[in-house]
Amino acid sequence: MKIIVNPQKCPQNHSCPSIAVCPKNAITQRDIRSLPMIDDAKCIVCGKCIRFCPKNAFEKVP
Ligand code: SF4
Repeated sequence: MKIIVNPQKCPQNHSCPSIAVCPKNAITQRDIRSLPMIDDAKCIVCGKCIRFCPKNAFEKVP
């Protein structure tokens, strides 16, 4: 399993609030108009970003 950010749901017009809740610092965003990126090597698929994102843009995929 891994986490992806759905570009259809993320408006890509603000600083990603889920960056602050990730315990592994696995989420980065180049600038506030960029889709957040997940570093799969750091991500432990804990799901905190999924629960926190107000746009439900984070998704767990096989
Ligand atoms: S699932 Fe957990 S570790 Fe992975 S990006 Fe989201 S908050 Fe970070």
